Amino acid sequence: MIHGNTRVYSVIGNPVKHSKSPDMHNAAFQSLGINGCYIPLEPKSDELEIICNLIRSGTISGSNVTIPYKEDVMKYVDTLTEEASMIGSVNTMYSLNGSLVGDNTDGLGFKRSLFSDLGFDAINQSALIIGAGGASKAVTAKLCQAEIKTLGVLDIDVDKANELIDHINKFNYKTKVLLVDSKEINDFSRESNLIVNCTPIGMKQDDPLLVSPEVFSSNQYVYDLVYIPSETKLLKAAIAKGANVTNGIDMLAYQGAESFSIWESVEPPYEIMKKELRNG
Ligand code: NAP
Repeated sequence: MIHGNTRVYSVIGNPVKHSKSPDMHNAAFQSLGINGCYIPLEPKSDELEIICNLIRSGTISGSNVTIPYKEDVMKYVDTLTEEASMIGSVNTMYSLNGSLVGDNTDGLGFKRSLFSDLGFDAINQSALIIGAGGASKAVTAKLCQAEIKTLGVLDIDVDKANELIDHINKFNYKTKVLLVDSKEINDFSRESNLIVNCTPIGMKQDDPLLVSPEVFSSNQYVYDLVYIPSETKLLKAAIAKGANVTNGIDMLAYQGAESFSIWESVEPPYEIMKKELRNG
């Protein structure tokens, strides 16, 4: 029951009305009997600072951040965690002793899903990352930390791909990071052990297939961060060739559970959160 002592959490983004995060977090509060609620907020960019101030003051107990604000909020936070500065974006905020903290749980979500659940071993492997936005930053950081041998980065906006590569190269990872031209996408995909879609392409029914269906093989892993629909054209094509595939649901559940645990200092009810996402 919502009353005066209810702790209010949010996800801020624009657009955000489609987000499944409120379902997942509200189910978690309910299952643990915590007096909290989680709401979507769709601020304009000039309203971001106001919301950040409300989180700093504790009026809002914590927030997730999604497209397009993961980088924009960085200028309002007082403390960036090591993880958020390594990734270069913020998806989780909360107040600690009056200071607004910016953290990032996306990388952890991807890491658990790819390495622990799918069993991918990065050593001596190569990956193609399609898209160089906020999510790609978390994905590439985790693959480089796992010492993947080669990482190709492709984005329709070449400047964005180059910016991401410059950011990665600041950390002296062992990984060789390459800019991949869109003309090379099929050749690079064919030679990659792992292909990760970090673009929104695949969400709409008339979206194109990002790579030729011929490139996939049964010893490849294909990870689509998109989770609606649960089987994108990319995943369907990869499944047809026997590749190991997954969509973004597990990453979403893991990152949400990690944020929940940071805010409430409890073991998050991961299975309940994941079930809520799958059923929603
Ligand atoms: P973003 O910051 O907008 O980045 C997407 C990037 O992909 C942009 O640079 C975009 O370029 C580029 N792009 C678009 N179409 C392309 C194409 N055909 N080929 C190559 N590059 C292309 O978005 P994001 O925050 O990284 O999110 C990307 C996707 O991941 C979204 O669908 C999001 O919902 C999903 N996601 C899932 C999770 C999860 O937990 N499962 C977490 C985070 C994000 P332009 O900007 O020029 O279009």
